[in-house]
Amino acid sequence: MGLFSSVLSRKRGVIFFVVAFMLPLFFVVGVSIDTFSKRQKTTRNLLESNLWLSGRSALDQMETQFIEIENKWLKEEYFSNILLIDSLKQIGTSPDMFLIDQQFQIVYPETAKEKHRYALTYNRSWNSDYRKYMGRAESEELARRSYSKATQHYQTSLGLAKTTQQEALAIEGVARSNMAGQNYQLAIRYYQLLKNEYSQIGNLGGHPYGISAPLQLYTIGTLIGDEVFGPDSLLITYQMIKDGDWLISSSSYFFFKAEFESILKIDIESGESRFERILKFNQFLGNFIIPAIKERSEFSEFNKAVEIKRAYMQTDDAQYLICFKEMQIPRSEKLCFGGICWNLDTVITTIFFSLLADMTAETGLDFLLVNSNNINLSTGEAAQIPEESLTLSFSNIPFPWTLVAIQPGYKKLESDVRIQLIIYGLLVVIIIILMLFGAFVLLRDISRETDSMRLQTEFVHNVSHELKTPLSLIRLYGETLLLKEHLPEADRKEGLQIITKESERLSYMINNILDFSKIEMGRKEFDLKPGNLAEVVINTLNSHRYHFVKKGFIIEEDIDQDIPMVLFDKIAVEGILINLFSNAIKFSNNIKRIMVRLKNKPEVISLMVADNGIGIPANELSNIFNRFYRVKNSADFETSGSGLGLTLVKHVIDAHGWKIDVESTPGQGSIFSIFIPPDANEEGLK
Ligand code: ADP
Repeated sequence: MGLFSSVLSRKRGVIFFVVAFMLPLFFVVGVSIDTFSKRQKTTRNLLESNLWLSGRSALDQMETQFIEIENKWLKEEYFSNILLIDSLKQIGTSPDMFLIDQQFQIVYPETAKEKHRYALTYNRSWNSDYRKYMGRAESEELARRSYSKATQHYQTSLGLAKTTQQEALAIEGVARSNMAGQNYQLAIRYYQLLKNEYSQIGNLGGHPYGISAPLQLYTIGTLIGDEVFGPDSLLITYQMIKDGDWLISSSSYFFFKAEFESILKIDIESGESRFERILKFNQFLGNFIIPAIKERSEFSEFNKAVEIKRAYMQTDDAQYLICFKEMQIPRSEKLCFGGICWNLDTVITTIFFSLLADMTAETGLDFLLVNSNNINLSTGEAAQIPEESLTLSFSNIPFPWTLVAIQPGYKKLESDVRIQLIIYGLLVVIIIILMLFGAFVLLRDISRETDSMRLQTEFVHNVSHELKTPLSLIRLYGETLLLKEHLPEADRKEGLQIITKESERLSYMINNILDFSKIEMGRKEFDLKPGNLAEVVINTLNSHRYHFVKKGFIIEEDIDQDIPMVLFDKIAVEGILINLFSNAIKFSNNIKRIMVRLKNKPEVISLMVADNGIGIPANELSNIFNRFYRVKNSADFETSGSGLGLTLVKHVIDAHGWKIDVESTPGQGSIFSIFIPPDANEEGLK
């Protein structure tokens, strides 16, 4: 046994392997799996903090931008100049602005101010002369129907008038009495005067002359058939009514609008006119905003002048945000509430969507604005909120929405990590398999090494035994012949025969060993010559026949004579035959029969040596050609042998480019067949 094999038995090898390879491997696998799961957790944490930071920053930007715009609109100088507000409101989308005084009366937008603008009554402060003549004129006109007298008195009143209202009333009187007195040309002149110069002044019925005078002119036009005052003349006035040129009450507005439309034969137009919008907004102010402002201003006394207050309004069709603050209107000394009213839809579409689009471009995240009913404000449909998202609320301005920050590629990121994990797992499995395979190969090599060492030791033992037997016989017979000079002739001859035979056996053995060592050193050369195989087989058989017969063997020969010439090394082929014969003898017990057959078949020449000996177990068949190899039970059966014979046979066969095959059944015998291609020429040989 070699040192290595004694130190490292198989069992120890396995333990060594487990300790040296498997434990560190398992450790590495454990650490890697741990690292991967940590990595997954870190990815998620990073994602969440990224979502939080970006989401917060988006919210901050939205709020900041909103506050900026709010401050821009809530400048006091805008509210101090109503005309300026109107011009501001021309610019694109803007909030509706309003101004409310401390008595919670609407200062802007102005409507329905007829009470102090149009609805005039005789005022006691008016000068008495004017009143006197106006009274006379009216009684002439209305009671006596004396229109020319009435006209005179009205004109006198006009001369006495101190205010524009007084003037307008007197002029209206002139116009009206002339119309009644069918003095149409004069009536037209005075109505035109009213229309052009006193348009914003109202009559006693509360209607501005700008509207009532053109209607009177139209009536006169139809009476006298004058096209100049036909329907077309009313168009401009109609448009002015719709634009809110006269701040009349909503009932007056709708009355005049309908009146003009019926004269002008205009179909009721869809859509609101500017004035209708103002009317509506004023109604909205009265119903919603003023109560909200009242409420807010009652509760917060602190820092009134600067602080912007906000209130939400939900109407049937929209949501509004009202921002207002108390302000001192210059030149009025009065504190008012100036404010803006946003339709939240406008805020979202004009400010927030573009801002969120910028944020998406900047951060790569998706942002959704979602209302309290979980509706996505950009699509108007139920919001689809993926798992990898974060929902944030506004902190400074309590907008009734939440912002959802979404990492769009997260699913992919996670699946990438998972794929990596799978690849890594596969790699680990492959490494384990490779290592197991390596360990297996290592163990096999160790055991082979052990086997080969055992075989070599056995070889030395066998060879020395093999050499010793013939040597001691030679020595014994040699000494006998020397000492006993007068031996009978027969004994002497037998002694010499034995010496010859044993020295032949010795030289055969030494040849085998020398051949083997030549082969091992790569120095074995073959002398290939064309020759007659049948001749070689018969000669070899004949030269050993005596030996066979003496051991009690029957030889069955079946040798074709018409074997074609083939190239071979004669001595080497004799060596093959001697080895095969010698094995057949060694490994036969009860049935001592050897069959030698040389057949010339069309494709191949076959040479067969068979016996009825102990046979070879099937699992050993592949080993018997290995050097030093001897089958266990046969070694017990016949101790002599080196395990070299078949190794040499195989080598010679290979060198000739031939094939050898063994068939064997334990207990029944073995057949060694050699196949020789008949056309083997020099190129066909190795
Ligand atoms: P050995 O010197 O042992 O004969 P060989 O190389 O010639 O060495 O043969 C190797 C082994 O093959 C033998 O030890 C034997 O076990 C087996 N063997 C060879 N020929 C035969 C045979 N004809 N019958 C049975 N076993 C055989």
